[in-house]
Amino acid sequence: MSTPTSPSSAAPAPAPRAPMLSTADALATLLAAAKSLAGTETISTFDALNRVLAADVVSPLDVPPMNTSAMDGYAVRVADLAQGSRHLPVSQRIPAGHAPQPLVAGTAARIFTGATVPPGADAVVMQEQTEAAEGAVTFLHTPKVGEWITAQGADIRKDTVILPAGTRLTPAALGLAASVGCAALTVVRRVKVAVFFTGDELTMPGEPLKPGAIYNSNRFTLTGLLRNLGCEVTDYGIVPDQLELTRATLREAAAAHDLILTSGGVSVGEEDHVRPAVEAEGRINLWQIAMKPGKPLAFGAVRRAQGATDAQGGEAFFIGLPGNPVSSFVTFLLFVRPFLLRLAGATHVSPRALSLRADFTQTKSDRRNEFLRARVNPAGGLDLFSNQSSAVLTSTVWGDGLIDNPPNHAISAGETVSFIPFTELLY
Ligand code: AMP
Ligand code: MG
Repeated sequence: MSTPTSPSSAAPAPAPRAPMLSTADALATLLAAAKSLAGTETISTFDALNRVLAADVVSPLDVPPMNTSAMDGYAVRVADLAQGSRHLPVSQRIPAGHAPQPLVAGTAARIFTGATVPPGADAVVMQEQTEAAEGAVTFLHTPKVGEWITAQGADIRKDTVILPAGTRLTPAALGLAASVGCAALTVVRRVKVAVFFTGDELTMPGEPLKPGAIYNSNRFTLTGLLRNLGCEVTDYGIVPDQLELTRATLREAAAAHDLILTSGGVSVGEEDHVRPAVEAEGRINLWQIAMKPGKPLAFGAVRRAQGATDAQGGEAFFIGLPGNPVSSFVTFLLFVRPFLLRLAGATHVSPRALSLRADFTQTKSDRRNEFLRARVNPAGGLDLFSNQSSAVLTSTVWGDGLIDNPPNHAISAGETVSFIPFTELLY
């Protein structure tokens, strides 16, 4: 991101510039346009990782479904031991997965972790606090009622909503759904995203670099981010800096996708053809966002050919990211990710920030909202990557996240700053 230069007195008066949008206003505008897609599908719980629930998951049972032992040991009636008796005959053996008999008064039942506590027993004594003898057991401990018993329904009660619609299915959520016996889940259909990359300087890895060329890194970063979010991705690759080709790609992409995402070509240079192409095929707002890195972000829609109708109406959304690798990465994380999660039906789309100590000083403030690549050090504070240029992709791998530094704010060592970990942004 180039820093603004003051016009020299000899230069012609610059065209009036639209005021820069704050990051919060830009995000609010994007999210206001994003509604959950209408289509749903019911899929195997095995296949539902990272998808978003379209319907509440209600538990049809208590979990655990019966009182279970939390230890290997002996199930007893506390009253039998409270009388001062330390020895009880062993009347049955209950492995996990086997139905017990009611506990005979004045006896103990050998029991194992996860096994059903027999009716009549009200505590389990762990085997480490017993001495086993032939057909009997000696207790070295007097249990309390309920000791080492996981009560029926202690985790989940029958008929409660365990996962509300709008939940993104993490591995933990899939486990919870499976714990109540859900073999299938109803989820919002995948968001279909078309992506292409503009710039005549772009070369694919594997090809030799000609003079003036650079490798197309954004193709790897952005498609990886889209896949992490569970999108169905069509990658159109590199589209040359030509208006007609850009328009044709937009038309083709609009027909079968919910969102068209591009990188590069949204500035206001003569070789930036994305904006005029989208204007010709639909509508667009080019925003100057008061953020660093980032700044230009285009948002709009591309018309679909007549007859192609769906729940979203006759157009596909369009988001154009800046070409600078760090800018496109950061604007994706802060704007495209929540937008896509909203289309996918997710309730929670905002990353959670942490308050952490800055272990560095940045005396120079910026009038824009900075998102600084930083790393958590072993002392629990934050170190700053040495080069915060929007072209230096190394910072995105070195860092653990972004410091969200408000406009016009210098950072002093020891100060508490807002840090958004990449774990909150990349998935
Ligand atoms: P632009 O937004 O098209 O003006 O591009 C801004 C800067 O980002 C230029 O230096 C481009 O060469 C670079 N750039 C654009 N697209 C990519 C890409 N896909 N991968 C890496 N760098 C890019
Ligand atoms: Mg370009």
